[in-house]
Amino acid sequence: MKIIIIQSKDWPKGKEQPTEFNYSDNSIYVNNSYDIKNDPCGWIVHEKVHFNERNKNLNKDNYPDCDNEINPYIEQFKYLKNKGYTFDNIFELYHMKSIIKYKDILKKYWI
Ligand SMILES: [Zn+2]
Repeated sequence: MKIIIIQSKDWPKGKEQPTEFNYSDNSIYVNNSYDIKNDPCGWIVHEKVHFNERNKNLNKDNYPDCDNEINPYIEQFKYLKNKGYTFDNIFELYHMKSIIKYKDILKKYWI
């Protein structure tokens, strides 16, 4: 598994999340505005689960309400819970604001 840092200016326009797992090269792409070392929002935790599940034939339609996102979000949220966050206050983190629109769906991954 490789982690590839992308300069913010080169990050795809409209892609709000700071990380992405790329299934074609099994790499995690990270916007360099994200603190990869401290992983404050657990996005690296999330993408590593995508890496671990890369060979499973998962349903990726209807993000984030799909098989593909269940375990990544469950693990990300466990990580944030261990840091002391509640479900509501994770959306105050800068790099979580883009997913607030999915709050109702994501609630089921906070277990
Ligand atoms: Zn994901």
